[in-house]
Amino acid sequence: MHLLNVHLVGRSESLPAGGGSGIGRAVCARLAREGALVAVADCNEAGAAETLRGLPAGDHQAWGVDVGCSEGVAGLVGRVQTHYSRPATICVNCAGITTDEFLLKQTEEAFDAVLRVNLKGTFLVTQAVAQALVASGAPGGSIINMGSIVGKVGNLGQVNYAASKAGVEALTKTAAKELARYGIRCNTVLPGFVRSPMTDKVPQKVLDKFAAMVPLGRLGEPEDVADVCAFLASDESRYITGASVEVTGGLFI
Ligand code: NAD
Repeated sequence: MHLLNVHLVGRSESLPAGGGSGIGRAVCARLAREGALVAVADCNEAGAAETLRGLPAGDHQAWGVDVGCSEGVAGLVGRVQTHYSRPATICVNCAGITTDEFLLKQTEEAFDAVLRVNLKGTFLVTQAVAQALVASGAPGGSIINMGSIVGKVGNLGQVNYAASKAGVEALTKTAAKELARYGIRCNTVLPGFVRSPMTDKVPQKVLDKFAAMVPLGRLGEPEDVADVCAFLASDESRYITGASVEVTGGLFI
């Protein structure tokens, strides 16, 4: 598998004691094992540093960023370019939050907060990385955005989250159409329910209910998603753009 040089990857939050990990951290580890140089970016700088410490030897970096802030994102993309003397050629947008509440009780603030990180953040990072790639004149690149199966089917208590993830999918398809002429591929990954700090907040009985509905018989692990990202980042997926890849164990098929 041939992977390009610099990866810009959102990181997962701090690990629960004993160790599961989030999707972004698993993506960092998988891409680093493929020989990529990984720029770990997250608003949780301590967590990003922890991810960095877990990577194999290489010129990997960890930087803080709030993906919802255009100045911050521009600064991050500039730091990647300066440090590696080239823009990120692979970008995996894993930053995301939930503030679950039923529609009848959802506050405007909670709605805005989730849209800001999940949808606007994906827009800002996708735009800044694509601009840097186009400006560099070097053809090619792979942008992978983290959607969710919930963006397709909805989910109780996640009116804001589901809307944000549906938006991520539409944004990515549009980016794929506009950026194809530059050789930049854009794809969405739609995880089902994956063990991570995000789902640690979900009551165990709800997780058990979802696990029982999964045809493959278990919840997902971050590595299940990371492996698909590695494929979408690689040349093996060279004829795939604008696609949404479900990584759900068959949930909701
Ligand atoms: P996670 O909470 O472990 O990771 C999310 C990361 O995003 C955290 O490290 C957090 O610090 C970071 N983040 C939050 N706000 C940010 C901001 N403003 N700027 C920069 N970073 C920010 O959760 P995860 O499960 O690893 O989720 C990763 C992605 O996968 C998210 O986009 C999530 O919506 C998506 N996803 C997760 C699941 C699941 O079941 N875990 C399912 C579908 C989609």
